[in-house]
Amino acid sequence: MLITDLIRKNILELKPYSSARDEFKGEASVFLDANENSWGSPYPIAYNRYPDPLQKTIKKRLSELKNVRPEQIFLGNGSDEAIDILFRVFCEPGLDNVIILPPTYGMYAVQGNIHGTEIRRAPLNEHFQPDVPAILALADERTKLLFLCSPNNPTGNLFDHDTVAQLLREFKGIVVVDEAYIDFATTVSWANKTDEYPNLVVLQTLSKAWGLAGLRVGMAISNETIIGYFNKVKYPYNIGLATLAIVEQALQSEAQYRSFVAQLNADKSILEKELADLAFVEKIYPSDANFILVKVRDAQVTYDYLAQNGVIVRNRSKEINCENCLRITIGTTAENEQLIALLKGMA
Ligand SMILES: *Cc1c(COP(=O)(O)O)cnc(C)c1O
Repeated sequence: MLITDLIRKNILELKPYSSARDEFKGEASVFLDANENSWGSPYPIAYNRYPDPLQKTIKKRLSELKNVRPEQIFLGNGSDEAIDILFRVFCEPGLDNVIILPPTYGMYAVQGNIHGTEIRRAPLNEHFQPDVPAILALADERTKLLFLCSPNNPTGNLFDHDTVAQLLREFKGIVVVDEAYIDFATTVSWANKTDEYPNLVVLQTLSKAWGLAGLRVGMAISNETIIGYFNKVKYPYNIGLATLAIVEQALQSEAQYRSFVAQLNADKSILEKELADLAFVEKIYPSDANFILVKVRDAQVTYDYLAQNGVIVRNRSKEINCENCLRITIGTTAENEQLIALLKGMA
C-alpha cells in the first residue's frame, strides 16, 4: 500500500502558502517582511510577532517525552484539529468513506459530516473490542480512515494489542489510533510503531493528563511523509505565541504530570470500590482512562439527582450498548468524595 495513493489528488499537488517566516530563515535584527507592528503590543508581553509555523521548540521537547523524531509530530488546536486535517488530507468529499466503531468519540462522525464523507459503523463487540471481520467487510477501495479510540471514550477500555496490529496490517487505509487517554493506561503507546506501520496515525493531547485543555494543544504522530501533508494543509500559524510559551513551560514539569496521573489512577480505584457498594450500580466497566463508565438502574434519574445537587456527569445512555450508563470523570479527591456521599444519600 502506498500512502500517496490514499491522499487526495489536489492535496498531493497543493502548493502550500509560503509565509514570510518560511522564506527568510537567517539571522537579522530588522524584520519588515510580515506587516507586523514593530512597536509592540498594547499589553505587558509583546505578541506583535507571528509565531513559529512549525513550533520547533515544543516539538523538540515533545519528541523527548514521546520518544519520536520532531518531524513526526503535528501540533494542532487540540487533537480535534488533527481529526479535521485527516479528513482534509485523505477524504474526497462526496466520494470517500471512513469507518468508526461505536460507542466512541463523537467528533469523528461530526467531522465526517462536515467534510461530506460517508460514515460507516462497525459497533464494538460485547467486550467493547473491535469486530475485525465486520470492519474489513465494511471497507472498500474508497475507505480512507479507520478510527480506533484506545482507551476508548466513553467505555474507558484499551483495545487488544493483537487486534490493533491485525487491523494495521489488513485494513487498506489509514488507521487512526486516538490515544487521548493513553497517559492513564499501563500499556505502551502506538506512537513508537509508526516506522513499522506506514498507515498508522496516532493522536494524543495535552488536554487530559497534562491538564491543559483550556490552551487547546493536541498532536498527531506519524511518519514524516504523512506529517508533511498535515503541515501543507494546516493554517500557517495555527498555534499562538501565548499558548506556545505556556506549553513550553508546562512541559518542563514532567514530575507534576506524573503525579497527576498517579493520583487520578489511585482515586479511580477508590471510586470504583465505592461505586461497587451501591445497590443501584449494576456494572462498572474496567477503565484505562481518567473516567469510569457505570451502568446504573436508571441513568436519567441518577443524572438528574446529581445535577440538582450541583454535580454534573455525562449520561451516555443513548450510545449503542450503553443503556443506563453514566460516564464519570475522576475529579479531585474531595470532588469524588462529594459524588459518593451524594450517591449514598440517593439509595
Ligand atoms: C478529549 C478527547 C480528544 C480531544 O482532545 P483535544 O482537547 O481536542 O485535544 C480526542 N479524542 C478523544 C477520544 C477525547 O476524548
